[in-house]
Amino acid sequence: MPQLKQTDQTASFQVAATAGDARAGTLTVNGQSLDTPTFFPVLSFYGGGTKSSVFGGGVHRTIKEFMLGKEEIGGGTYDEYFRGTMTSVASLTDYGINRERFDDYVSDQIKERETFSDYNGLIFVDSGGYKFLHNDGLDGSDFEIEIDQREAFRIQKQLGGDIIVNLDRPIAPSDTFDERQQKAERTAENAVEFARLTQDYPGARYLTVHGYNYSMLDRFFDHVQSQFGNIDISTLFDGIALGSLVPKKDDKAALITAVMDCVEIMEERGLADLPLHVLGIGSGSIPLLVAAGADTFDSTTYLLNAINEKYAVGLTEHIPLDEVDFTQCDCAVCSDPMLVNWMQGNTEYQKDVLGPVAMHNLIIHRQEVQELRQRIKQHGTEPVIDYLDETVGRNDSIRKQTHRVVNEALGGYF
Ligand SMILES: [Zn+2]
Repeated sequence: MPQLKQTDQTASFQVAATAGDARAGTLTVNGQSLDTPTFFPVLSFYGGGTKSSVFGGGVHRTIKEFMLGKEEIGGGTYDEYFRGTMTSVASLTDYGINRERFDDYVSDQIKERETFSDYNGLIFVDSGGYKFLHNDGLDGSDFEIEIDQREAFRIQKQLGGDIIVNLDRPIAPSDTFDERQQKAERTAENAVEFARLTQDYPGARYLTVHGYNYSMLDRFFDHVQSQFGNIDISTLFDGIALGSLVPKKDDKAALITAVMDCVEIMEERGLADLPLHVLGIGSGSIPLLVAAGADTFDSTTYLLNAINEKYAVGLTEHIPLDEVDFTQCDCAVCSDPMLVNWMQGNTEYQKDVLGPVAMHNLIIHRQEVQELRQRIKQHGTEPVIDYLDETVGRNDSIRKQTHRVVNEALGGYF
């Protein structure tokens, strides 16, 4: 094993307060700081086959108009909700673009393009492993790119990712033991190549890990460690990204087990000082997973709910758009008469009805996570427990899991 350069000062994570296993901290990358826990909205930066449609269409376009405070949505400042965003190498070809368009997308870093020059948040670029597993590469309308670790990193770098992860092979609930072992081995091999390729990368480097419980995750870390020999992996990575949970997103018990066990293993292996990101999980799971020790999240649920005409009244509750009383929300979207009028259906395009709903849903996500952060910073675990009781704990189907998290991660009720 050749010498690998340790991480330098491009990224750091400081824990400011804890309440049981829950942590409030600050993630700093390249001089930009994010308070944690935090939620990264998933964004599709590009989309469309022609030069004029590069910005993309539909609700995705409207969300970017909010991000950039464009005239089209009446201006306004929404940038605080986009301080950290998530995008994926795999999303580049979502619109079936041609090779020329693809080459254009990756020719300049996102933030160096005229289109996004007003955006200065942190971009987390996922490797897209979850998608490549099913179709073996990037598929455009007339081209295919085989994705390996080198190619995934090349694209992450070209997009200008502030946080990047190794190309992983996520597991599926139906995998056999042998299949999981093979995927863990391949992910571990990629992690070594990733560590080597990214030695001088000016951003944060995260290690993806996969497993649903202690024994699976412990075995996964064994595979990774055996690839790195006697090198201390805590010196090579700036964070841990827990993946493979999307198929379990509605199974709160499984999500909590995965996060609690991952936190335990990170402690045992000297990785507890790294931030823990949970890939692809949002909404009502966030409070429980924050209590269990997760620091950051990303998800498309704020968008998908809007596309399904669902308006968030909290992380756990969404109501049909035609039943919303907009006077009940004081967010920037619901306080804007023009946007409320659009959400009531009085506009030409469906994207303008649903885009503001997606923005409102995102604001609710960010506000609730901010509230959790404030509670963690108060004295003791009671403020966090009260929050869980007042939100997820009121939901019959989640109450049992709420009690479990309170008892196992927050020291129990008083
Ligand atoms: Zn609102």
